[in-house]
Amino acid sequence: MQEPSIAGLAARLEARDLSATELCQHYLGRIEALNGSLNCVVTATPDQALAAAAASDQRRASGQTLSILDGIPILHKDLFCTRGVLTSCGSKMLANFVAPYDATVVSRLHAAGVVMLGKTNMDEFAMGSSNEHSHFGAVRNPWDLSRVAGGSSGGSAAAVAAGLAPIATGTDTGGSIRQPASFCGLTGLKPTYGRVSRYGMVAFASSLDQAGLFAPAAADLVNGLGVMSGMDPLDSTSADVAVEDYAAALGQSVRGLRVGLVREHFGSGLNNEVEARVRAVAQLLEQLGATILDVSLAESELTVPVYYVIALAEASANLSRFDGVRYGYRSKDPETLEDLYERSRSEGFGDEVKRRIMLGTYALSAGYYDAYYGKAQQLRRLMVEDFQRVFTEVDVILAPTAPEPAFELGALVDDPVKMYLSDVYTCPVNLAGLPAINIPAGLASGGLPIGVQFIGSHFSEAKLLGVADAIQRASDWHRARPECATGVAP
Ligand code: GLN
Repeated sequence: MQEPSIAGLAARLEARDLSATELCQHYLGRIEALNGSLNCVVTATPDQALAAAAASDQRRASGQTLSILDGIPILHKDLFCTRGVLTSCGSKMLANFVAPYDATVVSRLHAAGVVMLGKTNMDEFAMGSSNEHSHFGAVRNPWDLSRVAGGSSGGSAAAVAAGLAPIATGTDTGGSIRQPASFCGLTGLKPTYGRVSRYGMVAFASSLDQAGLFAPAAADLVNGLGVMSGMDPLDSTSADVAVEDYAAALGQSVRGLRVGLVREHFGSGLNNEVEARVRAVAQLLEQLGATILDVSLAESELTVPVYYVIALAEASANLSRFDGVRYGYRSKDPETLEDLYERSRSEGFGDEVKRRIMLGTYALSAGYYDAYYGKAQQLRRLMVEDFQRVFTEVDVILAPTAPEPAFELGALVDDPVKMYLSDVYTCPVNLAGLPAINIPAGLASGGLPIGVQFIGSHFSEAKLLGVADAIQRASDWHRARPECATGVAP
C-alpha cells in the first residue's frame, strides 16, 4: 500500500505509474462515495477536474519540466473565489454567486498545475468553531459521524482526513485551520498575517484572516505553501518579505531548539487527555534534543473577549456590502429600497452571522467605540508585546490547539459563549498575526484525534514546518486514519 503523500504521488506521476487522470478519478470516486455521509464538499467540479488532469497528463507527455504539484488534486474552501464556479461561503446570501475571477491562492496553485476537485463546506462566512453554521448543513467528522469536524474550515479538514483529496485550502481568522485539523487528525498551517494574499477571499475580519493548507503531514504542505506565499500587488496587506524554501526545512534536527510551554494554558478548562498529549509531544522533543522552558503569556485570559470584539466589529463592516443589490441573494418583491436591504439581509444571513453583525455594529457605535473597539485594540497591542517578549526566551511555543477533542454535533450550538471559549488557544495567534501549525499528537481514549500547535514568531513558517516534520519523522501520530480512509489509496 502506497502512502498517499504529495511526494509519493508526485513520484508516481513522474514515473508514469499513475496518470493525473487516474488520480483525479480516484478522488472523484471517493467524493461520490463518501460525501453523502460527511457533507464536506458543497460543489464538486468533475468535468473541470478531469479536463485539468488531462491537460496535466499532456504537459507531462510533452516532456516539460513540471512543478511537483502538477496533477495533484486539491479542494478549496468555498470562500476562495473560483472563476466560473460557485463561491457560496456557506451562506444563502452567496448561494448563487459565481465568481468572475480567481483568488490569488487559487490562481497561483492553478499555475503550479494542481487539479481542483471542487469546493468545501464551511461555517457561514467562516464564523464558527464546529461547521454547524452552514447554509448547507453541518459537516460530519470522519472519525465519528456523530461529532463535529471543527470549524470554520471543517469541510476541507473532513475531506482530507477521509481521503477525498490529498490537500485542501482553508482560512484561519481565529483558529479555523488549526482547530478542524486537530479534530480531524491532520497537519494544518496558518501562516503569518500578510504571508499569503487575501485577494479573492470573502472577507470575515480583515486584520485577522489568513489562508493556509491542510494535509496529513508537514512534508505534504511545503510545496503548496511555497506556491501560495509571497507578495501580491492585488493585496496591499500582503508582505514584501522573501519566501523561505519550505522544502529545505524538512529533515532538519531540533537539537538545541528552545520550546516554550505557556503556564497559563494548563489551568482549568483544559481536558486531561489533551494536556497529556501536549506533554507527550514535549517529552518527544526533549528526547530529540530540544529544551522545554516554562513561559508566561499574562494576557491569555483576555484573548477571547478581545478577539470577539475585533473580529465582530470588522465583520459587521465587511458584511455591509451584502445588500441585495450588488451580490448574491435578493429578496423577492421588496416595497422600498430600505425594505430591499432589510429583507435581503434578514432572509440571506443565518442566525450566527446576524448575531455577529449586531454585536460588531454595537461595538463600533458612536457611544461605545472607545469602550469596546478602542479598548480591544489596546489590549491587542499588549498581547503582541507579550508574544514578542516570549520569543526572546524561546524559538517556538508548544500549546494545545483546542480545549477538548471533537465534541458531539449539537452540543454547543445553542451556547455561543461556550462555543467562543473553545477558541481560547487559537485566537491569540491571529490577534498577534503569528504563524502556527497544528499537528496530530495521538488519540484520546475514545479514539478521537487530539492535535497540538506550535506557534512561531512572524515569518517563521519554515521553522514551524521543520519542527512538525522532525516530530513526524520520529512518531506515527500523523499516520492515524479514520476507518473510512484506512486501506484506500490511489
Ligand atoms: N471560531 C472562530 C470564530 O468563530 C474562528 C473562525 C475562523 O477562524 N474563521 O470566529
